[in-house]
Amino acid sequence: MATRVTHWINGKLWEGTPERSGDVYDPATGEITKTVDLASATVLDDAVAAAKAAFPGWRDTSLTKRASILFAFREILNARKEEVAAIITEEHGKVLSDALGEVTRGLEVVEFACGIPHLLKGGFSEGVSTGIDVYSIRQPLGVVGIISPFNFPAMVPMWFFPIAIASGNTVVVKPSEKDPSATNLIAQMWKDAGLPDGVFNVVHGDKESVDALLDNKDVKSVSFVGSTPIAKYVYERGTANGKRVQALGGAKNHMLVLPDADLDLAADQAINAGFGSAGERCMAISVVLAVDPIGDELVAKIQQRMGSLKTGDGRRNCDMGPLVTKVHRDKVASYVDAGEAAGATLVEDGRGITVDGDANGYWLGPTLFDNVTTDMTIYQEEIFGPVLSVVRVPSYEAGVQLINDHPYGNGTAIFTNDGGAARRFQNEIEVGMVGINVPVPVPMAYYSFGGWKASLFGDSHAHGTEGVHFFTRGKVVTSRWLDPSHGGINLGFPTHG
Ligand code: NAD
Repeated sequence: MATRVTHWINGKLWEGTPERSGDVYDPATGEITKTVDLASATVLDDAVAAAKAAFPGWRDTSLTKRASILFAFREILNARKEEVAAIITEEHGKVLSDALGEVTRGLEVVEFACGIPHLLKGGFSEGVSTGIDVYSIRQPLGVVGIISPFNFPAMVPMWFFPIAIASGNTVVVKPSEKDPSATNLIAQMWKDAGLPDGVFNVVHGDKESVDALLDNKDVKSVSFVGSTPIAKYVYERGTANGKRVQALGGAKNHMLVLPDADLDLAADQAINAGFGSAGERCMAISVVLAVDPIGDELVAKIQQRMGSLKTGDGRRNCDMGPLVTKVHRDKVASYVDAGEAAGATLVEDGRGITVDGDANGYWLGPTLFDNVTTDMTIYQEEIFGPVLSVVRVPSYEAGVQLINDHPYGNGTAIFTNDGGAARRFQNEIEVGMVGINVPVPVPMAYYSFGGWKASLFGDSHAHGTEGVHFFTRGKVVTSRWLDPSHGGINLGFPTHG
């Protein structure tokens, strides 16, 4: 019988009866392995109420104590990371090493958040006026909401909650209903680390719970990651309700390869960044811009490497797993049909490939198109699957123009041995995260992650100092301790002298 996944509210699993539930699949076998409760607005409101009740106590817990709980959580998560990775592979399909990689990147944010006493330090100016000092402090917001996508069930929530919690907020996470279990395991780890009940809550669900979170007046901020249309919706509804919102959306990441680049390195990295996690990464490379005259040579090198990729069950020794659901697999395959119909050259066709896995898995092998043009939907839209498109461009300038004209601006990369060209690229390109001979430039935890244009709605990127700012509010205190010589009435606007 399928295991039931339910909410985690106020330090324990929810004991109610769900009004609705969804199925969770093993994408490598097509089997329903679990059911997940889909929260009603009432359940979401109960979780927010628990978080609200826990807030004053947690806000007033000393920085030293908060940091020590973060440290304990880091140790538990590190010790149990293989378990988290196994759950991710079981529900998402990505290969185990990749799943472990995402937990490791999440751990880095936890480690960053362990330094919260330093990160929250304010400024102090002594004697701004006679006997008057001014200092700045940053305080938590209250209850914060986090809504995450299916493709990084552990890492993406961890871009946010370690910093939110370390800063003194209490949290309600709404994971993707496609792979909900990792967050519940993480909730247990927080409890084991000594986090008070109610500080970290998990509500499973779909649109109904997202809307309830966006409308609940006690939720002060929302951190969303997902597709662009939903990100825009969440941003607009959340901000209309007076919340602070950061909503990270979709992507279409280009890799510009100049004629002087090391083409073997570029081909290796196009494969890694195009087909890693079956292309289900917001930082995946989906377009290679080959600057004349290297197109033929680069395509040949990519194609030759594709021959050695093994697609199959992520628990086996494979390079690439299945896609997350049958619906998504079929949608990605329909883009391959569309590219072919539009006249792109189908160099490698992932439809109907032989796999090392169950026949009922959601398979689509690595696919390569050449001679893709900008009027094709495979160029314009985010595919979010193992489909790499090569567009031939006549010059560096033409490549940059295409990238800057594209509505998405999450990540991009240039491959070249010319430092001057790379430097010009980093300056001219209208994209939030840039790689120079690095195809997936995901910033470290102490920098901030976020795209430009339709890849992010709101002003703050995730983690790093922007994350600390997002989860805190600034306050400035002007203070005078009694000095009778400066008393007296003066209705003028205060100036300092
Ligand atoms: P999605 O937009 O379908 O879902 C994201 C979240 O929104 C989920 O929790 C889901 O339950 C919820 N949701 C879905 N439909 C909704 C609706 N109508 N109203 C309210 N909430 C809704 O995204 P996904 O398919 O889970 O994830 C893949 C997408 O996420 C891709 O577009 C990818 O580029 C993007 N992504 C972006 C980043 C980034 O940093 N920019 C990172 C990871 C993923």
